[in-house]
Amino acid sequence: MKEQLNTIYQEFLDEISKASSLEELEKLRVAYLGKKGKITAVMKGMKSLSKEERPVIGQLANDIRSNIENGLTDKREALEKERLDKKLKEEVIDVTLPGKKQKRGSYHPLNKVIKDLEDIFIGMGFKIVDGPDIEWSKYNFDYLNMPPEHSSRDLSETFYVDTTPDQEILLRTQTSSVQARALQENGVPIRVVVPGRVYRADEIDATHSPVFHQIEGLVVDENISMSDLKGTLDLIAKKIFGEDTKTRFRPHQFYFTEPSAEMDVSCFNCGGKGCRVCQNTGWIELLGCGMVHPNVLKQCGIDPEKYSGYAFGIGLDRMAMMKYGINDLRLLFDNDLRFLEQFKVED
Ligand SMILES: [Zn+2]
Repeated sequence: MKEQLNTIYQEFLDEISKASSLEELEKLRVAYLGKKGKITAVMKGMKSLSKEERPVIGQLANDIRSNIENGLTDKREALEKERLDKKLKEEVIDVTLPGKKQKRGSYHPLNKVIKDLEDIFIGMGFKIVDGPDIEWSKYNFDYLNMPPEHSSRDLSETFYVDTTPDQEILLRTQTSSVQARALQENGVPIRVVVPGRVYRADEIDATHSPVFHQIEGLVVDENISMSDLKGTLDLIAKKIFGEDTKTRFRPHQFYFTEPSAEMDVSCFNCGGKGCRVCQNTGWIELLGCGMVHPNVLKQCGIDPEKYSGYAFGIGLDRMAMMKYGINDLRLLFDNDLRFLEQFKVED
């Protein structure tokens, strides 16, 4: 039995020297010290020994058992240390390697134009307000003094969503729809701009889209005159296109303003000499404007004898196209990263 124990220990020493993983160590532990292990089996056979032999063999078995336990513990520690060293070596950080560049997003050129305009208007004391894209026909047409027979009410020009007995529901065709809403909610005096999406039943081509963007401006107070309109819009044009920008007003006709005008700005590209951007005219059409029609004020419960005001609307898509040299309106809506990444603009 003594030899048997010594042989078992020799076998153990041999096997443990070959073990290279914690899993193998656990197998060894079970094979030698487990309930059905080799040492346990020998100890079970001690009953057949004589009284004199039993304590001697028992002592030897215990010594071997604790040697095996210590051997397993030492080997486990060694293996764990080895694993940790390996891991540390693998995960070493080379600070001399170039860093990975973070890909940064940026504003869509259209949103950049909107943001720039909002900054200008806020600086001039305007408040930014919002209105619904899906609108009642009264706000889109009636309150704006547009007669029932007006062509833009036609199915071929406007997207209708639904009809109720006395109103139609439609996708707003202009941000002017927010004029009456703002006047009714805010009252006078008022000084607001409304950026947003508008919809018309247009075909899609390089300069037309069924969805496009406008910013509406509305100022109503006592003693507001055409010269306030001209002065303010001239200043806005200079802030957008630079100090040397000139403006000119041409008579026009809108139902919700009287008198009405279109405002051109001198071409920011050629300074008025004539180029491709301005189609050799030296001027770029920027916005429609006019003095708020007394009927619009009346419809909103405001006394046109006491109050007057002006309104204007700027097409934002065209402005973004001019500013960034974009030659096709559809590019603004394609969401093609190859296109958008060309207009990285700083915050
Ligand atoms: Zn030009």
